[in-house]
Amino acid sequence: MNEKLQAELKSELEALDAQSLLWNPRTLNGPSAAQAQVDGKKVVMLCSNNYLGLANHKLLKKAAIAAIKQYGAGSGSVRPIAGTMDLHLKLEELIAKFKGVEDSLYYNSGFTANSGALPALLREGDIVISDELNHGSIIDGLRLTKSERQIYKHCDMLDLEAKLKEIKAKNPKRVLIVTDGVFSMDGDVAPLDKIYQLAQSYDCAVYVDDAHGDGVLGEHGKGIVAHYHLEGKIDFEMGTFSKAFGTMGGYVATTKTAKQYLLNKSRTWLLTGAHGPANVAASIAAIELLMASDKLVKKLWRNTKYFKKSLGKLGFDLGKSETPITPIMTYDSGKAREFSKKLFDEGVYALPIVFPMVAKDKARIRTMINADHSKEDLDFAIGKIEKVGKEIGLVK
Ligand SMILES: *Cc1c(COP(=O)(O)O)cnc(C)c1O
Repeated sequence: MNEKLQAELKSELEALDAQSLLWNPRTLNGPSAAQAQVDGKKVVMLCSNNYLGLANHKLLKKAAIAAIKQYGAGSGSVRPIAGTMDLHLKLEELIAKFKGVEDSLYYNSGFTANSGALPALLREGDIVISDELNHGSIIDGLRLTKSERQIYKHCDMLDLEAKLKEIKAKNPKRVLIVTDGVFSMDGDVAPLDKIYQLAQSYDCAVYVDDAHGDGVLGEHGKGIVAHYHLEGKIDFEMGTFSKAFGTMGGYVATTKTAKQYLLNKSRTWLLTGAHGPANVAASIAAIELLMASDKLVKKLWRNTKYFKKSLGKLGFDLGKSETPITPIMTYDSGKAREFSKKLFDEGVYALPIVFPMVAKDKARIRTMINADHSKEDLDFAIGKIEKVGKEIGLVK
């Protein structure tokens, strides 16, 4: 490699390391499961997004194997040319049915759904207004638009309304409000009912990212829109298969017309190879499983309540979470790192979340509960969190 470039890259990495911002990902030596093998060590997994334990579920594995036998290993093309199999269409139909809307468009990931759909929907002369804590894929999607961009304070409906008033005076062509459903750092839930009312009053459209709500909120884990009983009223419900659904892929659930528009205009849909049969079939199996039974969703919430209650009793500060995402606040970033490292040595895997993912004085470790955790797993983790929490002076 060019020597100058190599030296520059190295020094930038060293600068990141000096600020403790360098990622050195740990490695799973087997499936993502409640008890996993990570860097050769057996640990209780508290940092996967595998909320329902579907990533290693026997029905999903069976569906993937059957699809490989029938359809092969790959899709052969991008979706618009020769990569759309009937499996992709079946999945899109099922997503729409699950969400109670007309249709949906399946993308390769949640990231490419946001970074493709948002720039497709927003033209010059339009205005988008986005929660300040929205996911990076929304931020990147909005960077690609030619529309004016505005940010409102996190979940602050007074600020949103004030901005909508100002926007109205500008007489824009199209206005879109964009929000995460569940915010992944704190586990708090957007006031989508109030956002919907404001959108009605100010004649604008709503786009919600349900990445951490799918499989978690609402009956049968139908997501944030079902949680607020707003089925069919939100213009765009975007989501991902990489979290509770246990596979890969993103989607936007919407009307048939909007789907047709998005598939003609989203560069991240038009210009990338289609997911192969195994992943698509496993994704279908995940939705079918959820539609047939809410057993896993109920177990997820039982586990979550038990875990939060136990840690609360021990005196830990769990922030403002309303979901299985459970931050354990340390406020100090050094403490968050030490907490995570000591927990791993004790056999519990949870990551520190520090600046720039959260404000400098809001460091924490973030734990995420799964339906797959047994009571023994949770008790083991709670015991270790108590032990390490005392060692580093978080609780008495
Ligand atoms: C994870 C996540 C995404 C990205 O989804 P992928 O399918 O993993 O690319 C988008 N939005 C939010 C809020 C997320 O948490």
